[in-house]
This record gives sequence, structure tokens and C-alpha cells, in this order.
Amino acid sequence: MKLLITIDTEEDNWSRYRTIENPVENIERIEKLQTLFDRYGVKPTYLLSYPVATNPRSVAILNSIQVEGHCEIGSHCHPWNTPPFDEEINEQNSMLCNLPEELQYEKLKSLHEVICHNFGTPPVSFRAGRWGFNTEVARSLTRLGYRTESSVTPYCDWGEYRGPDFSTHDPQPFRFNPESLSPQAGGSLLQIPASIGFLQQNFQFCHRLSQQFETSFYNKMHIKGILRRLGLLNKVWLSPEHADAATMIKFAQRMMKKNYPCLNMTFHSTSLLAGLSPFVTTEQDEIRFLQRIERFLKFASAVGLESMTLAQYESCA
Ligand SMILES: [Zn+2]
Repeated sequence: MKLLITIDTEEDNWSRYRTIENPVENIERIEKLQTLFDRYGVKPTYLLSYPVATNPRSVAILNSIQVEGHCEIGSHCHPWNTPPFDEEINEQNSMLCNLPEELQYEKLKSLHEVICHNFGTPPVSFRAGRWGFNTEVARSLTRLGYRTESSVTPYCDWGEYRGPDFSTHDPQPFRFNPESLSPQAGGSLLQIPASIGFLQQNFQFCHRLSQQFETSFYNKMHIKGILRRLGLLNKVWLSPEHADAATMIKFAQRMMKKNYPCLNMTFHSTSLLAGLSPFVTTEQDEIRFLQRIERFLKFASAVGLESMTLAQYESCA
């Protein structure tokens, strides 16, 4: 089994849709994170937003890791801060998939070009900001020569945020063509979903059960909380933002038993600096966050998971 670690590497303004004035102070923390990765031989994929890809200091930090061959640089489009700005800046338009296709393409192209220019190689891996991905985005990615896509969040429906519904997807990677987000042998793009599933054996059954308990009656009864505490229904994201090390390890063991070919751990660079993301609010959280990653990497190393970047995984998949 392969271990992929994919990081949305973005500006400090969590959920504030600003076209300009996007500081990138959190990127300073990547040096420490990368030291941890290097210690365990982990090659992460940093997916860059436009402010990060254009800030000289963040470019220098990430370039120094890339030239050593210790990471991959991909792209991560936040439409609200990626030119051109032909749309109204609002929540609906914060999802790339909600914009007209030609504007999607123009934004992807401008992000693609600054990464080519500032990092010397064309990015081939992509994740949409706020998971706002659809087949039109896939078409633009194909036009720009991308090979991997990682916006699918299995068993999640972003409808209430005006985003896509990935609730029928599971964590299995698949090749597809831009016309449809369903598996197709020989497809031009490899979809590598975020690793999201359950601690229990049957992911589809757990998901259906979980959906049934969404109604207000069951919510009032706190049924899901009770089942979670009893260890009967536990949805897990392989992310130090959502799960502690012990839970991530249990989930990884479940994914291994179910013979998934890879694990895709996801998080945001903003979680490296307290007070930016909602997941890490104190200095104590900052320490705990890196400890969670390190404990997981110790486990990964002990069971022989091989780390690789998205592009490396695509070339051997
Ligand atoms: Zn983002």
C-alpha cells in the first residue's frame, strides 16, 4: 500500500474570500513540517493556491524543497484570489465548478502558468478549493495537461455549501475521462480521492445508515453520537485536522484490510500556525497537530507503507 500526503498550501485567510491582501505567513511553518517528512522519507504533494505560488518568500521555501526532489508541487485553485476576476466574489462563486467553463479555464491557466514560471516545471496534480470540482473543471485540467485530480471526498455531499455531491464515491482511485466522473479504463486523469471512510468493515452500509440518521428526529436523539461512542458507526477522515493518531491508525488498518491500494492523507497548510484554520486554535494544538502526524508516520514506517507524490503514484498506477 502507498502513502500519499496531499496538502492544500494556501494563504492565511481561512474562509475569507479576498481578491487581494492574502498574507502567507503559515508557509514559514512548512520548513519544520518538511523536516519531519524527511526524517520518515515521506514525499508530500503541496497543492498551491495563487497567493502562495506568487509570493517570493513562499516560492523560495517551497522551491528549496522541490529542487531537492523531496516533494511535488501541484495546484489548488481558490477562484476568489486567482485572476481573472470576472465574477462576483461570493460563496456560490467560491466553488470553481459554479463558474462558467471558460472562466474556470482562464483561472486554472493563470495559476498553472505562475507555477510553471516560478517553479520551473508544469504542475500535473490538482485539487479544487473547497472541493469544488466537476467534469467541466476536469475538461480544463485535461487541456492544461494535468494527470491527477484529488478533489473527491467520499461519502460527502457539499450541497449545503452549493458544492458537489460525492456521497456515492468510495476511496478507491480510478481513471476517468472528463465527460464523466466515473471509472473508465485508460482515462486521461487519475482520480485519487481523499481517504474518508469508516472504522467498520462495510463502508457503503455505514454510509447509508449514517444518512438515515440525518433526520431531525434522530439528530434530537443524538443517535449518531451514541453509535460513535459505542464504536458501531465511526466515520473517519485520514487527516490530523479531524482525527487523532490512534483513530487514523485504526482507519489505515481498516483500509489495508479492505485492500485499497493507497492512503491519501489531507490537510491545510494553515493548520500549521495557530489561529488560522478552525482545527488548530492554540499553541498547544499546533504541537498536538505535528505529534499526530509523527505518530502516524511512525506507524506507516513500521508497517512498510511506501510514500510517494500524486504524480509518482499516477505513473505507476
Ligand atoms: Zn483551499
